[in-house]
Amino acid sequence: MIKLTIKTQAKQELIDITERVQRAVRELGISEGACVLFVPHTTAAITINEHADPSVKEDILTALGKLVPAGPFYQHAEGNAHAHIRASLVGHSVTVPIADGKLLLGTWQGIFFCEFDGPRQREVWITRA
Ligand code: ZN
Repeated sequence: MIKLTIKTQAKQELIDITERVQRAVRELGISEGACVLFVPHTTAAITINEHADPSVKEDILTALGKLVPAGPFYQHAEGNAHAHIRASLVGHSVTVPIADGKLLLGTWQGIFFCEFDGPRQREVWITRA
């Protein structure tokens, strides 16, 4: 297993980690099969989406903010219930197929770490599937 460390810079942001994951897959020696990427946090998530146009990640954050606004109406006393809910909606893991040691992603796809309650130091765990 490889643990990537990610230092997020903002309250919420999507960070393209595709190249770092590709390097980790090489280090793990996975040539065929798949890898699992797991986020061990409750206010962060991981997703795969378009990384050609950077406005897509901003649109995702805007939409999640409208779907799950911050507010005083939640019971969770820490004040970040919206971040927990956004993280659950997006999900804590993805599986990516691998062939010839390369991530098999679609032409426009990239892997994004999703911060919803930063800035913090975060991790993504990468294992063979
Ligand atoms: Zn909390």
